Amino acid sequence: MPKAQNKHQELFEFSSQYLVGGVSSSIRLNSVLGHPFYVSRGDRSKIYDVEGQEFIDFNMSFGASLLGHNHPKIKQAIQQALDLGIVCSNECKYQGQLAKKIVDLIPCAEMVRFTCSGTEATMHCIRLAREFTGKEKIVKFEGHFHGYHDYLNYSVHPLLDKAGPAENPVPYVESGGVPLGMKKYVIVLPFNNLEVLEKTIKTHKDEIAAVILEPINYNSGCILPEPGYLEEIRKLAQDNEIVLIFDEVLSAFRTGPGCAQKYFGVTPDLCTIGKAVAGGTPLSLFGGKKEIMQHVRPLGNSQHSGTYNGHLIPVMAALACVSEISSEGFYEHIYQLAKKLYSGLEEIFKNSGLKIRVQGLGARFGLYFGVDKEVKDYRAAARNDRELESKFYRAIHGRKLYLVPFSHHGFSSAHTLQDIEEALDRVEMAVKEIKGQKTV
Ligand code: PLP
Repeated sequence: MPKAQNKHQELFEFSSQYLVGGVSSSIRLNSVLGHPFYVSRGDRSKIYDVEGQEFIDFNMSFGASLLGHNHPKIKQAIQQALDLGIVCSNECKYQGQLAKKIVDLIPCAEMVRFTCSGTEATMHCIRLAREFTGKEKIVKFEGHFHGYHDYLNYSVHPLLDKAGPAENPVPYVESGGVPLGMKKYVIVLPFNNLEVLEKTIKTHKDEIAAVILEPINYNSGCILPEPGYLEEIRKLAQDNEIVLIFDEVLSAFRTGPGCAQKYFGVTPDLCTIGKAVAGGTPLSLFGGKKEIMQHVRPLGNSQHSGTYNGHLIPVMAALACVSEISSEGFYEHIYQLAKKLYSGLEEIFKNSGLKIRVQGLGARFGLYFGVDKEVKDYRAAARNDRELESKFYRAIHGRKLYLVPFSHHGFSSAHTLQDIEEALDRVEMAVKEIKGQKTV
């Protein structure tokens, strides 16, 4: 076996003997580095690798650390949970307090339930929609991600030659081991295409329990709904006794305390919230109209239980996190950073002549390579220039900016304007380096 060249490779070799693929989550194998990015610690907008090198972090825990790393109020809240004895699987006064805060902030949430992950939240949400409607099929959109359970893990990033016709995509299963029969419960549609949705609902309305979507499709970069599109979906769902679910696991708190539903002014029946809600600790939730939520046990018959649901550590962290998010000036800062970062990147890419497109809203953004028109659906996003993309991520990593070669990136409230200026300088240098390698 060749000798490890650095600490990352050394750790990778060690852990790969015991941890499958050397990682705890499959996507942590960094495709550009060829091994995971091993981290020693994080502080505010910075992340430090095992060799002690400082990176400006533009991954922010895939969106979970909206307040930045090592936030003193989150640490204090966790300490409080530790001091209370790490009680687990018990109700305390704090779960109800957090539920009230969420209900106060998020338009559709009249009642909520906590889960540990976003995957669980969407799984329970669609179960509830099925129990409520007595129907079984779920409509999802190509390029939208709703977690790893067998019901919705279809057509997230399908290969274009396996995805079927653009207007009638085939459900592309994203993992082995999913029973073939599961396909009959999902209908995959192109995003931002109202006509196809209308036709589908007309034909299958008696079978469709729910339409689920990312109101901001960050899992394909940052694809926004066309003006009026969400309103039309809202109406179609209402008219056909279909539950409308906004999966806000990733979009929650990116654009404001009321999440994407408040930003767009469209209220779904149910929603899922995750990642940013708990300051980098594992908590997600689903919530919505009382009329539907009352179908969860013990009030109704849709089961939702779990040893770690509403665990005090993430609950206390979320209480602290949500109150920070609600504090004055929080989103002014986020939008100030967003404007500077996205317009700065656009200018650098334009001046360089490299075809790299930036699409961002609030605290998260996507980059599209070899693309010059606005990306409005997954198929356009999937036409990325792979060669340019990997050159970019390699060069950016060399300049100590931490961006995972993945669909979405983001920053935190702990980032400063100075961080953004510094990052833009480094991107400019990286782009010059790429230009030296590639004739455009
Ligand atoms: N839904 C969306 C929109 C997500 O972005 C994710 C994760 O990235 C999930 C669900 C699954 O969440 P988790 O990774 O916490 O299971």
